[in-house]
Amino acid sequence: MAEKAGQLVEGDAEEISFETSKGIKVLDSFDKMGLREDLLRGLYAYGFEKPSAIQQRAIVPILSKRDVIAQAQSGTGKTSLIALTTCQMLDIQSREVQALVLSPTRELANQTEKVVLAVGDFMNVQAHACIGGKSIGEDIRKLEYGVHIVSGTPGRVFDMIKRRTLRTRSINVLVLDEADEMLSKGFKEQIYDVYRYLPPETQVVLVSATLPTEVLEMTQKFMTEPLRVLVKRDELTLEGIRQFFVAVEREEWKFDTLCDLYDTLTITQAVIFCNTKRKVDWLTEKMRQNNFTVSSMHGDMPQKEREAIMAEFRSGTTRVLITTDVWARGLDVQQVSLVINYDLPNSRELYIHRIGRSGRYGRKGVAINFVRNDDIRILRDIEQYYSTQIDEMPMNVADLI
Ligand code: ADP
Ligand code: MG
Repeated sequence: MAEKAGQLVEGDAEEISFETSKGIKVLDSFDKMGLREDLLRGLYAYGFEKPSAIQQRAIVPILSKRDVIAQAQSGTGKTSLIALTTCQMLDIQSREVQALVLSPTRELANQTEKVVLAVGDFMNVQAHACIGGKSIGEDIRKLEYGVHIVSGTPGRVFDMIKRRTLRTRSINVLVLDEADEMLSKGFKEQIYDVYRYLPPETQVVLVSATLPTEVLEMTQKFMTEPLRVLVKRDELTLEGIRQFFVAVEREEWKFDTLCDLYDTLTITQAVIFCNTKRKVDWLTEKMRQNNFTVSSMHGDMPQKEREAIMAEFRSGTTRVLITTDVWARGLDVQQVSLVINYDLPNSRELYIHRIGRSGRYGRKGVAINFVRNDDIRILRDIEQYYSTQIDEMPMNVADLI
């Protein structure tokens, strides 16, 4: 599967045989999908007037209880698709966990819980974010009180399952958001651990913008005749994200380049990616020493602090966030219109996820890559792989934001 920044193209993954979405129905209105009245009200109240391309194609198959692999670009409503389909499936009278959504980061699991609570606002849906770094006692209290949907990270969810606090007998659906990440080396075993505790007939739904061939091959092991819903082209593509590079030549010159861009960063909101936590700390410190206001977040910070920083950034109190790839996937802050790769990412997939933090749901976005002499090859590789164009940053870049 090769993905391009402006479009998704079918690549070698098509050689694995899936039933593809070519013949499936496209429903361009939520009203036509047979959704519950109280869910519809929630969707409209939340501001969803019309389903996005992936929603138009994947909602009905997921609700028909088939195993589904849903793929569409960043910011096109995939996580929202998860929230609304899991809500629709619930028996609200029961207080058993009926849907389990797993995400690779605590922030994303929290965000998904919030979206569930928002679209399910008129349904009295009970959801719980079951994530590491939080009080186990609170998890136990919430789960024993009874929730319909658990949105969590694999480690804590498995812990709760082993303690029998999270009872799995009524779970009907397992959803993996950012599925290729969830099935990558770091997580795969944990996912299988959880999967083994679920009822054998559990429906499985996978969602991501990127699904490399290796991952698609793996799905044969735990999915039954999956339907692959792939949105290749859409009115809301990454075409809205302009991509540039700055030739900084040497590492030492990145910092001054960033300082020169500071006014541009604060036009709306910006996310700056570094490849290590240490570098995030270092850059944050150095920016502050030079009297620039920045906030920063990475996975070694205490959970309380991570949450406080997220809240400040979501509310717009802080405008510039320096972070690691903990922020690369899934997080949705609509005001982010600029992404800076202070360091180029370590994989092609991460590139597309990082720049996808801007340009949410068809908004404008700009991505700027800092490129040292020895990075030029990586940049060219990305450009070629996604057959996209990454031009030298123009003087008037601020006008594009
Ligand atoms: P993805 O998971 O594909 O990156 P999200 O589900 O996070 O996308 O949605 C991206 C943004 O678009 C969010 O702010 C979400 O609220 C908004 N959105 C999703 N679906 C719709 C819709 N049908 N109508 C309007 N906005 C939507
Ligand atoms: Mg998402």
